[in-house]
Formats: sequence, C-alpha cells, structure tokens
Amino acid sequence: MIIKDPEFGDVIVRRNPLSTNVKFSVSTSGKLQISAPKYVGNFLLKRFLNTNRERIKKSLPINDPKTQRARDEKKKILANRAKKYLPYRLEYLAKLYGYSFDKCRLTHANTRWGSCSSNRTISLNIGLMQVPEKLRDYVIIHELAHLNHMDHSKEFWQEVGAHDPYYKEHRKRLKMFSPGV
Ligand SMILES: [Zn+2]
Repeated sequence: MIIKDPEFGDVIVRRNPLSTNVKFSVSTSGKLQISAPKYVGNFLLKRFLNTNRERIKKSLPINDPKTQRARDEKKKILANRAKKYLPYRLEYLAKLYGYSFDKCRLTHANTRWGSCSSNRTISLNIGLMQVPEKLRDYVIIHELAHLNHMDHSKEFWQEVGAHDPYYKEHRKRLKMFSPGV
C-alpha cells in the first residue's frame, strides 16, 4: 500500500504481522517506507509521519545541493561551538566528580551522542550543542561513568545516578533529539 505525504511523496507501507510498532526505513533507491502492524490504520500512520518528520528527514538521502550546503554550514557552526565548549565541560565535570580521562574527541556520528573507549578517550558528538544543558551533562556523566564500568550494569547506572539523580528522565528526554546534524 502507498500513502501520499505532501513532503515525502509516495510512502510505501508494508504490513508486518510480526511487528508491534511502526518503524520507518529508507529503501536502497532512497524511498521512504514504513512497516506497521496490521491493526494500525492510515490515520495513525500519517500521525507517525508528522511526529517523526525531522528524524525521517535526516535519514533520507539528500538530493538537493542547497540543503546539503546548509547542512554543511550548520555542521561547521556546531563544530566550532562544540570545540569551545565540550572539552572544557568534560574537564570540569571530570574534576568535579573525580574522574581522569585521557583524551576528548569530538565526533559527528549520526547514531551516538558519545562513547568511551578502553584507552580512556571520551568522544562527544557535536550535536550535543543542540540539546538542553542538563541532557548534555547527562551524556558527559554517562561517558565518564564508563571509565569505571565499561558496561551498562546496575553498578554503572548507580554511578550515573550518584552524579545525575534525574538521569532516567534525562535519558528519556534525550531520545526526542537526534545526534545527526
Ligand atoms: Zn553507555
């Protein structure tokens, strides 16, 4: 089945009896497709497109050079702001909570906000400059806690919670943002 969207054009809908929620993907030819359980009607699918519009846009290949240029420009601005902020914020929070890391790396991956490697390098996504400060700090605290726990064990979350008592809420709110620029 196909539904028409004013922005995305024809959207292919695949009914999947095994799926329990609505998901979108991009076909190899660059077309948007959504997979949905049988019982989800067109109205809800359109609402899904509307609520996820920004996220979907970021996943679609860019055909328009103007959009690409605007995105490159935005990336440059974010990277600049990130360079002046994130390494210092990381250092500040590390000192405050008694962590020592080796290096801070800035990334612009599309899927993760940050990471911590076994050689004690902490990577932070420049997209963090677009999220509220509390969520940004949560990501930093999360990565710092990985210096002591390289997993997401109970002990890990306890440590995160010791420095950010509202981490559960912050984690949930962060899901409304996308790390991609
Ligand atoms: Zn983690």
